[in-house]
Amino acid sequence: MQTPFYGKQCCYHWVVIMLKVHNTLTRQKEEFKPLDGNNVRMYVCGPTVYDYPHIGNARSFSVFDTIRRYLEYLGYRVQYVTNFTDIDDKMINRANEEGVTVGELANKFITEYRLIAKQLNLKPATINPRATEHIDDIVEMVELIVKNGKGYIVNGDVYFDVSEWPRYGVLSKINLDDETTMARVEADDKKQDIRDFALWKAEKPGEPSWDSPWGKGRPGWHAECSTMGKHYLGLPFDIHGGGQDLIFPHHENEIAQSSAAYGIDTPVKYWLHNGFLTINSEKMSKSEQNFSTAREVLDNYDHQAVRLYLVSGQYGQPLDYNDDALKQAIQTLERMKNAVDTIKGRITILERTGSRESEADKKLAAASRKVREGFESAMNDDFNTPGALAEIFTFIREINTHSKDVGGAAVLREALAVLSELVGILGIDLQAGDTSEDASSITDSLRGVVEFLLELRETARKSKDFAMADQIRDRLGQLGIVVSDTKDGPTWKLE
Ligand code: AMP
Ligand code: ZN
Repeated sequence: MQTPFYGKQCCYHWVVIMLKVHNTLTRQKEEFKPLDGNNVRMYVCGPTVYDYPHIGNARSFSVFDTIRRYLEYLGYRVQYVTNFTDIDDKMINRANEEGVTVGELANKFITEYRLIAKQLNLKPATINPRATEHIDDIVEMVELIVKNGKGYIVNGDVYFDVSEWPRYGVLSKINLDDETTMARVEADDKKQDIRDFALWKAEKPGEPSWDSPWGKGRPGWHAECSTMGKHYLGLPFDIHGGGQDLIFPHHENEIAQSSAAYGIDTPVKYWLHNGFLTINSEKMSKSEQNFSTAREVLDNYDHQAVRLYLVSGQYGQPLDYNDDALKQAIQTLERMKNAVDTIKGRITILERTGSRESEADKKLAAASRKVREGFESAMNDDFNTPGALAEIFTFIREINTHSKDVGGAAVLREALAVLSELVGILGIDLQAGDTSEDASSITDSLRGVVEFLLELRETARKSKDFAMADQIRDRLGQLGIVVSDTKDGPTWKLE
């Protein structure tokens, strides 16, 4: 079983390396101790799938992927859940604007997310639940909140009654007199208190709706994440992540709901929030119109350089988006790849000439041990990726200095393995090439080919050639493309 600390032998003694994480709940860096031994249960708020994610969203996806990878490197078994918000006001408004169903809109942007995830080398989540798959769970939670006297019903809407919840503000330390903060709370005449929030929204004409004890309606956004977290991870769980914009009201409301429904004071042990990607010191956001989509950036730059850039700042701090920063990431990646070439080149020579150990072998072997230590001590300090990268640069300098004199291939292979393993935690695969141009044209072609095959399938169905129609669906299924027939026609998604 993994102990709360990570211990390892250094020189002649054991050093104990403790992972510390900044917990928004306490505003402190705390020792990381999972609730259940070696298992880490982690939930990260995923995208609202109404539009192309911007590169700021991609920062959030990337930093939590690196955090997860580092926890796994330390030996923890991580269950990683990140959702798709596929029903909310933004989804409904955009679907209406585009004349498609909410389900079709969600499918389109879930496919887009999966492509971005692949291009940014995000490790597949344990599961990516969709909110609409959990309506029964949501209704059950809202019923419990009402039953426990913490919710009230107004004409088919259900609200959380914050006055019944004295701990409200435990996460955000919200100040009711702060107008900027309170401006983020949805205005609504039916609420008894400005802080109250919708758990369930009564059906409006033309909106998707589900049955509930309060009549037809749909869930409030905050209820979605509380429910999916509990469903897949149980309560309490270890880590809940998301951008800093979610601290209030989204995560504050999640705590209130889960506590009120299930009687658990602290449904999540550590709350981790990423800083914003900024442009000219302003948060990048759709509403400010100061954004670049992840697609635009990934179509224009090497994907690995984009990933490296996104994790190059400490996750809790802001990170500025500009051309120079991306150019710098390209150079950094180049330096990493050159180091790999240097090592491989030397191994090839040694394979011809045979081994002969020298002083340089000892120096490179020592550098390979040292970089691991330095990398870990930076990452153990609340996932300090800039510090970890500085250790990698020092190591690369050692590689460049000593490789040409190293006489043993094993020492070189070890250096290569260590370099690859450590940058792998940042999401960089040093064996992969530049894929930006290929991938964007594959993306467009893939979409086109799938749409074309679905048209052929519709033609086959119309002419009652059901064998052909089924064959097309089955073959797409084998390729990981799931076709579903809805009342509005076929839709597809990547498995
Ligand atoms: P959304 O699709 O808007 O729900 O956002 C998905 C994730 O991106 C959430 O965790 C947000 O907090 C995060 N996010 C939104 N804007 C930014 C930004 N400018 N920089 C970093 N993360 C962001
Ligand atoms: Zn959420």
